[in-house]
Amino acid sequence: MQLPAKTRLAPSPTGALHLGNIRTFLVNWALARQRGWRILLRIEDLDTPRVKSGVTESMLGTLEAMGITWDEGPLVQSSDLEPYRAAMRTLAGAGHTYPSSESRAELEARAQEALSAPQEGVSEVRYPAEYRPAALPRIFEDASEANWRFAASAEAVDFDDGVAGPQRMTPAETIGDFVIWTKRHQPAYQLAVVVDDARQGITHIVRGNDLLDSAGRQILLQRALGIRPQPAYFHLPLVRGEDGKRLAKRHGDTRVESYLRAGVPPERIIALIARWSGVENVAACMTASEFASAFQLAKLPAHDVVFHPSDDVWLKERKR
Ligand code: GLU
Repeated sequence: MQLPAKTRLAPSPTGALHLGNIRTFLVNWALARQRGWRILLRIEDLDTPRVKSGVTESMLGTLEAMGITWDEGPLVQSSDLEPYRAAMRTLAGAGHTYPSSESRAELEARAQEALSAPQEGVSEVRYPAEYRPAALPRIFEDASEANWRFAASAEAVDFDDGVAGPQRMTPAETIGDFVIWTKRHQPAYQLAVVVDDARQGITHIVRGNDLLDSAGRQILLQRALGIRPQPAYFHLPLVRGEDGKRLAKRHGDTRVESYLRAGVPPERIIALIARWSGVENVAACMTASEFASAFQLAKLPAHDVVFHPSDDVWLKERKR
């Protein structure tokens, strides 16, 4: 079945959008406008302890100020958990999931024994295969004080990423059985995103390459839930500080709303993003539409870009 092309902007209201986040959204938006994809805005607010009130409103304001528009939404994940529960019932019915009650600390301690220090961006340690029970429940019960894990089959996942190129992943080997429903009675990110992308008809997923590794898990979940066709993936390089770490507070205040409040025009920020994204002969200022006309995916640098303190100076030197 041919679905109409649709992408999504899926911010998590856990902190204000910084230059790295807005670059991903601007590239996503530009690709959609160039290729005629519809754009849905989805607020991913299920990571409750980290969700901050008021952030959604300010994120929407920032997107609008930057000229990043959408055709549908905003849809808010927490507004209805039933679709995620239904997916859990389907997975349980087919013997794909089970409750597990080890604490994270316990798992980390175990992994420490076996492994060197976890790498940046890998927040999960491999779940030991022998912890999976021999018989899996056929009924999902969201009552226990347990996380539910996906019983990851040993199959490899192959896909051709529109930016990162051909990929082969075997989540069962690298991650093991991963959490899809949390003891806070909510779907975990991996499940929520798969359920939503499917029911909202998302065909093209554009996001930061910190989530490249998650695609393998998400494709396994799509297979187990009978979701077809598989969406196309585009994982974009990130913006990093001079220390090589992902852009964060330690690199200064790179929140877009702070720049806007300081009088930096959105077009100046877009010009910086254009310079970071392989656009040639970038003027001092550029609108989102001009960016969409000039941006070429094939020219996007394949490596992460570095935010230098001189970029901050450059942004601020031409005030409105
Ligand atoms: N909400 C996620 C984030 O802000 C993005 C999830 C996704 O694009 O799959 O990192």
